[in-house]
Amino acid sequence: MEKQWDGQAAPGGTPDADALALINRLAKTPLAAEQVYHFAVRLCDNDIDRDNERFDEQALTDMAPLFLGKAGLFDHQWSARQQVARLYRAEVAQEPGKTTRDGRPYLYLKGYAYMLRGPAADPLIADIEGGIKREVSVGLSCAKTTCSVCGKTAGACAHEKGKRYEDALCHLILSAPTDAYEWSFVAVPAQPQAGVLKAARAPHRADAPGETLLRKEAALGRRYAAELTREVRRLSALCALPQAVTDLLPARLEAEELAALRDALRQEAFLRCPASPQLPNLAHTSQPPFEPGADFMA
Ligand SMILES: [Zn+2]
Repeated sequence: MEKQWDGQAAPGGTPDADALALINRLAKTPLAAEQVYHFAVRLCDNDIDRDNERFDEQALTDMAPLFLGKAGLFDHQWSARQQVARLYRAEVAQEPGKTTRDGRPYLYLKGYAYMLRGPAADPLIADIEGGIKREVSVGLSCAKTTCSVCGKTAGACAHEKGKRYEDALCHLILSAPTDAYEWSFVAVPAQPQAGVLKAARAPHRADAPGETLLRKEAALGRRYAAELTREVRRLSALCALPQAVTDLLPARLEAEELAALRDALRQEAFLRCPASPQLPNLAHTSQPPFEPGADFMA
């Protein structure tokens, strides 16, 4: 099952030595602290969301390594400037005193991202600092989905998510994450009105009609882009394109361009091995280990 999740970004700054060491494991050439802006993003949590679904606690832990090195996408306005942020660290964090809708301790997957400073990036950095571009969205694939009431596989029982059974809200529990796709700043246009921004940042709120439409369109676009990206990666691996090239592709291309690339790669893959019906799964690239460090989002 594929899952789209909305989170938040928090203001950051210049990385300290520990953070810079982790960042430089991903950077192609060693970076100096003053070249880099880093910030935290709330990628996922264990609360029941608007779709009456939630990740289980183990899933948060399991998905952390899947996100490392993953590129962050920006909406059209930003992708035109070829901006990209990359997650260099991810870990499960707790918000003390806060509980989920059904009373469990609230946990979330906290990601740490970095991007290069510069004239093209500075407006985006200013937006993150100012709280404008705070919502992020992630795409994940989970192998297991179970009913919260009876524990059976989703669809194998008569319970309906969103309904109450003996005072317990029926929801679906997502576990066993298999892949994390790109994450993105949501395509809701940045508005100068503080009220709009506040509404856009509030989790689990009742959607305003106009915003619901925007969100649904944005979610559809992201889902489509995530599917295209996955296919392009598999085909790229089959065609033996260098990993460095395929890593950058999704952040650089619009959906139509991705689709055109997919078609071209399909053709190439077919010529290379016409008898093979199965495309290999792309193994994850080498990832830095988790290391505790200073918390700048306190
Ligand atoms: Zn059930």
